[in-house]
Amino acid sequence: MSFNDNTRLDTSQVQDRRGKGRGGMIGGGIGGGLVLLVAILFGVDPALLDGLAGPATQEQQQGPGEQEACQTGADADARTDCRITGTVNSLNAFWPAYLRDYDVTYRQPETTLFAGSTSTGCGNATTAVGPFYCPTDTTAYFDPDFFQELVDRFGSSGGPLAQEYVVAHEFGHHVQNILGNLDNAQQDPQGPESGGVRVELQADCYAGLWVRHATEVLDPQTGLPFLDPLTQEDLNDALSAASAVGDDRIQEAATGRVSPEAWTHGSSEQRQRWFTQGYQSGDINKCDTFSAANL
Ligand SMILES: [Zn+2]
Repeated sequence: MSFNDNTRLDTSQVQDRRGKGRGGMIGGGIGGGLVLLVAILFGVDPALLDGLAGPATQEQQQGPGEQEACQTGADADARTDCRITGTVNSLNAFWPAYLRDYDVTYRQPETTLFAGSTSTGCGNATTAVGPFYCPTDTTAYFDPDFFQELVDRFGSSGGPLAQEYVVAHEFGHHVQNILGNLDNAQQDPQGPESGGVRVELQADCYAGLWVRHATEVLDPQTGLPFLDPLTQEDLNDALSAASAVGDDRIQEAATGRVSPEAWTHGSSEQRQRWFTQGYQSGDINKCDTFSAANL
C-alpha cells in the first residue's frame, strides 16, 4: 500500500542500529532456557539458529542518522527503511484500538533496524535469519536489505505490500506474545500440524487483519490516514510474499524435495490462505489456527 504523502512518520518508534558500529555480544549465545526468536523464514530450531548466529560482527557502517530521512509518507513510499517505520507507526496505531474491544491492553513492542548482525534478547542473529521477533525483549528486528533478498532470492514481487506484510507478520507475533499463544511454537516447533506452523499461520492471518483495517487507521499526529486505499496489485504483492516464504517452496528450492515433517511455517498455499482469511474477515476470531481442523 502506498502511504499518504502528508502523513508524518514517528521515528521514535524505531531504533536504528545501522552504522553505529555496535554489535556488542551478549554473553552465552543461545543456551538452555532462553526463549528463541521467531523468524519469517525459519523456525525456532536451536541447531539452525546456532549455526547461523555466530559472534556479532562489526555492523556495516552507513551514514549517520538514516532514520532522520524518514519524515513523511512520501519518504515511506521512496525508501525501504522509511516504509518499515511507516508500517510500524500504522501497526502501533491499529492494534491498541482493535484489541481494546477485547479488553486486551496492547503494549508497544520495540522495533530495531540492523545491518548484517545484531545482538538480541534471544541471542545474536544475522541477516540470514531474516526478519524476526524476539519475545524476551519484545522486539521486532529488520535488516532493510532483506527486502531485496525477498525479491532476488525468494522470488517475491517487490511491491510495498510485500514488505509491509512482513512487518505486519512480525507484529502478529508480538500480539501473540501478548495473548499468550506464542509458546505453542516453542513447545512444538516442527511438522505440518505443529504448534510452530499454527503460530506462523496465525501471524499471517493477523497481518491480513491489519491490511483490512489499515486504510482506516489515522496518524495520531496529523489525523490523516497513514495509507492510501488498497489496490488489487497491493494484494497480489502480499500474496506473492506470503507464497515466497512458504516452507514447501523454500525446501524445494534448497533441496529439490518437500518434507512436511520439517515444516515450521506452513506451505505457500496455507500462508496465502490464512493471510486472505484475516484480510477478508477483518476478525481476529477467524484467525484461530489452534482449533482449525484443516490448516
Ligand atoms: Zn513468523
